[in-house]
Amino acid sequence: MAVLELCRMGNPILRKVAQKVDVAEIQTPAFQKLIEDMKESMEHYGGVGIAAPQIGISKQLCLIEFDGDSSRYELEQEQPLSVFINPEIEVLDESTQGFWEGCLSVPGLRGYVERPSKIKVSYIDEKAQPQTLIAEDFMAIVLQHELDHLFGKLYIDRIKDPQKLSFSEEFDEFIMPTLSEENY
Ligand code: ZN
Repeated sequence: MAVLELCRMGNPILRKVAQKVDVAEIQTPAFQKLIEDMKESMEHYGGVGIAAPQIGISKQLCLIEFDGDSSRYELEQEQPLSVFINPEIEVLDESTQGFWEGCLSVPGLRGYVERPSKIKVSYIDEKAQPQTLIAEDFMAIVLQHELDHLFGKLYIDRIKDPQKLSFSEEFDEFIMPTLSEENY
């Protein structure tokens, strides 16, 4: 396994629509190693999700994994490692929830983003099986954030109020103490 180098904001690969994965490719050793390397990289950098364009591969593949002990977020939800390939999203509840998001490709910043609160995602998993998942709460936020990476978007594109963008240290010092538990 290997920790892969991250692409940061400004790298044009983060702004491209990623290519769909050929399902026949999923069970190949090379693709399975890519998944393993992305998992190791996500854990190494302390993320709750990682998308292939973030490590320089323009393919529709992302991973999500988090537990209640995340160093970055206070969480009650848990999500075991999940691999999403060629995902398609459907909004089930247009009402939004807001969260101060961060991103491995935009290091050192947190920004307030509102997103639909309930979604359904159809995708292929790491065993090349079709799956659907209904996500709410924090998982809905993380999934929409990671899926955005596959379509050339970053969370900063979705910040409505530019005053709600902060360096992480200032966020911890000035903003987090003012928030209710659900919003950080
Ligand atoms: Zn991100």
